[in-house]
Amino acid sequence: ARAGEAVRRLTRWHDDFPTPGVRFADLTPVFADAEGFHAVIDCLGACAPDADLVAGVDARGFLLGAGVAASLGTGVVAVRKAGKLPPPVLSREYTLEYGSAALEIPADGIDLKGRRVLLLDDVLATGGTLAAAAGLFAAAGAEVVAAAVVLELSALGGRAHQGDYSLTSIVQL
Ligand code: IMP
Repeated sequence: ARAGEAVRRLTRWHDDFPTPGVRFADLTPVFADAEGFHAVIDCLGACAPDADLVAGVDARGFLLGAGVAASLGTGVVAVRKAGKLPPPVLSREYTLEYGSAALEIPADGIDLKGRRVLLLDDVLATGGTLAAAAGLFAAAGAEVVAAAVVLELSALGGRAHQGDYSLTSIVQL
């Protein structure tokens, strides 16, 4: 309840950003607020208290991932945009409104087989980003036990594109 209240009160909305017709939710003030950030971290961590690894999606998911991992006592994986990690990597393309993009995680150095992953991002819109990130962990032999976002833009239908992990959002608009 405290987390949802902070998100509703502090989110900064901007029309026609980053492209015309898009209404952008900027959660920066939520994360900058001590009570808001801690409430959000507690709420996201409660989605999968038995996770043994937390992953956050480039870039605001990194902030959430690190916070939740510290609170659950797990490690954290940054799911990067293409081209940021040295090879070998696992890569997954996904569709954007215009064109496509790819997300990557390391293909070695982390033993992901059988790991129980809690996957985090700030906003769920059309859902392609979160689904691609989840696909990376599945390809590596890990199980996404839960995914969670701070804000779900329900009208964009992203929930329908997810796998069979539970998906929690603190606020649905
Ligand atoms: P999707 O793939 O359409 O669900 O877009 C989700 C990704 O784009 C997430 O990584 C979000 O950080 C980002 N995103 C999309 N819309 C917004 C927004 O209104 N505010 C902040 N991030 C957004």
